[in-house]
Amino acid sequence: MNDAADRLAGVRAAIAEAAKRAQRRADDICLIAVSKTHEADAIRPLIAAGQRHFGENRVQEAAAKWPALRAETPGVTLHLIGQLQSNKAEDAVALFDAIHSVDRPSLVEALGKACAKAGRQPQLFVQVNVGDEAQKGGCAIADLPALLAAAKSAGLAIDGLMAIPPANVEPAPYFALLDELAARHGLPLRSMGMSGDFETAVMLGATHVRVGTALFGERG
Ligand SMILES: *Cc1c(COP(=O)(O)O)cnc(C)c1O
Repeated sequence: MNDAADRLAGVRAAIAEAAKRAQRRADDICLIAVSKTHEADAIRPLIAAGQRHFGENRVQEAAAKWPALRAETPGVTLHLIGQLQSNKAEDAVALFDAIHSVDRPSLVEALGKACAKAGRQPQLFVQVNVGDEAQKGGCAIADLPALLAAAKSAGLAIDGLMAIPPANVEPAPYFALLDELAARHGLPLRSMGMSGDFETAVMLGATHVRVGTALFGERG
């Protein structure tokens, strides 16, 4: 097996083990391979190994890389995991199958218009700033009910919540908090967990884990 297939098998095994410990089905957890900054040549081995969900954090970078890769392999699902500017909402709706970074009323409004125009809606996650960090994207916990209501008014169906916990502290309480917020609002999906903590996230209810470094190696 090549490196990419080895790494993928390792991450999948770790997800399965964490799911088993939590009495969950591994099939209920979607592994998103975060391919931001990586060239098509680094992505192809993972596709060849069977990986189909990929995450990018910038619309422009994804638009440059993925149409060609998708033409080679039908059935790829593309997730936007980075902040989205309202003026790129139309591009994002055209390119992505899921958007994990819905975080403010102006973006909800732009996405509502873009989805109506396109006649399709990607799966949508509201990103929550669970650590209440000034520098980080995501809606404040206190603003979540109003943002969900705004999405509903804009005709958007919100499928789940996403969070990036503060760096360098134990993430588990933040994963538990996101799970609790999603349950409170009746939302089935939770996008949480990255290379360093995806097993903990799976044990605490993640339905989508976003893993870059553990699959691709360090970003340059
Ligand atoms: C880059 C990124 C990831 C992946 O991080 P790794 O530590 O490389 O696994 C996950 N989620 C978001 C939002 C990211 O920007």
